[in-house]
Amino acid sequence: MIADRGLLAGPENSLYIPLLRQWLKKCDENHECHSKKHFWPTRVIFVGPSDSTELELWETEEKKSVLSDADGYIALSHCWGRLTDEEKRKICTTAENFETRKGGFPLSDLPKTFQDAVEVTRQLGKKYLWIDALCIKQQIPNEGNPDFEIEAPLMGQIFGSAFCTLAASSAVDWKQGFLAPRPTSYDADGTPFQTPQYDVDAAPLNKRAWVLQERVLSRRTLHFTESYTYFECGDGVRCENLIRLKGREIKEYFLLDPRFPERLYSSGYMRSLDFIQHLFEKYAQYQLTNESDRNIAILSLMKRMSDVFRTGHRYGIFECFRFRLLLWRPGPQSNDGKNVVDTQKLPSWSWMRYSQILFFETWSLSLEVPRNGAFEFSYEQQCVLSIRIRQLKDYTMEQQGSEHFILDAKSEHVGVLWFDTMTDASIPIQKCVIVGRESSGESQDSEKTCYILLVGDMTSEKSYKRVGVGKIKARCISKRYWDGELC
Ligand SMILES: [Zn+2]
Repeated sequence: MIADRGLLAGPENSLYIPLLRQWLKKCDENHECHSKKHFWPTRVIFVGPSDSTELELWETEEKKSVLSDADGYIALSHCWGRLTDEEKRKICTTAENFETRKGGFPLSDLPKTFQDAVEVTRQLGKKYLWIDALCIKQQIPNEGNPDFEIEAPLMGQIFGSAFCTLAASSAVDWKQGFLAPRPTSYDADGTPFQTPQYDVDAAPLNKRAWVLQERVLSRRTLHFTESYTYFECGDGVRCENLIRLKGREIKEYFLLDPRFPERLYSSGYMRSLDFIQHLFEKYAQYQLTNESDRNIAILSLMKRMSDVFRTGHRYGIFECFRFRLLLWRPGPQSNDGKNVVDTQKLPSWSWMRYSQILFFETWSLSLEVPRNGAFEFSYEQQCVLSIRIRQLKDYTMEQQGSEHFILDAKSEHVGVLWFDTMTDASIPIQKCVIVGRESSGESQDSEKTCYILLVGDMTSEKSYKRVGVGKIKARCISKRYWDGELC
């Protein structure tokens, strides 16, 4: 499809802002997208009238009498980029400048991306803006940040209750901004129209791990990409060139859904699971400035989903889906543990340890799972799952690439194993834990395929760590078991 982009050539065009307003108005009037929740973040930026050169940092509790729920606030989703401590000190709100900023501070103190966000907020007729760097007190250098620890769990509510989210999709950092003028006519070389899927998903912003929950929990988002501006709400995606995109694949649909995750929950167990696996496979690939944030950057989203699914969650595993979510293996490009990203001692059973993961197929695999004592969350230790250890018996292993085929005593093919790292592959494997057994098929129990985690010993007697995953015929696994802990 070739689209004419001459009609609206970006922010320079006098029709640009009216179009953004129109999108939001139509959505307000005709859809169920906008937030009905009355929630104010702890602080917001009061942007003032369009000609004002001053901004104010407001504590919402103090300004209760002035704030009207009908006004709402706009939230900014953006890339932090690489900043020096000096730059951060100048731009961010800190314990030192906090009181002064409440009395007012110049717009010119802010970098281009934040200035652009102020500009759009004003143009949309809104008064309040939330930006993490300005509304959460930053610790510089970043050595444990008490205010961040209070505010981070509220992230889901902050984005989920905003009037709308501005996504500075194309800006790689704060200096770049997102309202730059664009070419006024369509290129003569006939570059094809890029779909929002490409344009938005491939933008620098959407490679950042923190952004996933901001995007999923936002009820509607204006994406400012390099080529176009898009409006994403429950009714689909609208592009600045007046093309409307609908019918994206179902997995992406839930990402747009303003009633996420309620509607996901009502879509059924398998569809929910399929979406969650898709979401985690994506999340694993996203980048973090601090790899130790891997478990935190998705925590609001995990909490929101676990409230709706009425289940517990730990390190990317929901209790109600735990059997299926434990069945992952590092992605195809894994070799010698190069995609191990863990720097914070995540448990060996968490997929968050790897930057590339694949879950076992959801739809085609019908799984019988153990009834009790299997992979229960320990209440004393977050990292521990209770397990029943069994022994693999009468087998030989044959390596082919990243897979290890299992042969029985008669050299018959009985299973396949995938080690998490090549180092793990050198550990003599005898122990495993059954995650589930195929429930379909006519075959006798002993011939049925079991899905297993391979485990290795740890220093403490009862503790084991995951070293791989596999599937193997039941007859090659001992009936005898003993209790242990997976860490
Ligand atoms: Zn809408």
